[in-house]
Amino acid sequence: MEANARIYQDIKEILIRREEIANAVKMLGEMITKDYEGKAPVMVCILKGASVFYVDLLREIDLPVTMEFMIASSYGHGTSTSGNVRIIKDLDYDVSGRDVILVEDIVDSGVTLDFLKRMFKERGVNSVRVATLLDKPARRRVKLKADYYCFTVPDAFVVGYGLDYNQIYRNLPDICILKPEIYNK
Ligand code: 5GP
Repeated sequence: MEANARIYQDIKEILIRREEIANAVKMLGEMITKDYEGKAPVMVCILKGASVFYVDLLREIDLPVTMEFMIASSYGHGTSTSGNVRIIKDLDYDVSGRDVILVEDIVDSGVTLDFLKRMFKERGVNSVRVATLLDKPARRRVKLKADYYCFTVPDAFVVGYGLDYNQIYRNLPDICILKPEIYNK
């Protein structure tokens, strides 16, 4: 029996399976390795949603990367953005002059990453790019294009592989759509 069988009962549909995710993450790691040859980028994980993607992606990159973690929040407990971005946990050291890659789970309205990109530019980084697992272009509210992404998803709320609903479902190995009754509980 699947280890996560109990929480899979809340799933309506598997959108992207773990094998497809692994392949896409591997390809993205190779692409970043090629693009940043001779460089040592600072990889910034935007917690908590990007955590699973982040650790998998870093292990597919053949460069002397450094790991940094940040918590930024634009959401309350619902399924759409509040438009305000709060930095709950900032980086531990100065990244001026460095090449920064922001690693995110999903770009939805684009508000979070637009804010973070501007913040890093103001901090005097040499470059800042965005690598996201998922891109949901249908809901974009600002002009933001991810430099790297693995999959485009439709306008639906997805969970799994790091993404949550009310802090649950992050440990599902696949990217899934929840049953509507879960939101109406
Ligand atoms: P944005 O600022 O681009 O609207 O939102 C980015 C953040 O919203 C993501 O990092 C993620 O935490 C959350 N988010 C947006 N769409 C989804 C979704 O479909 N599922 C989940 N679990 N979180 C989402």
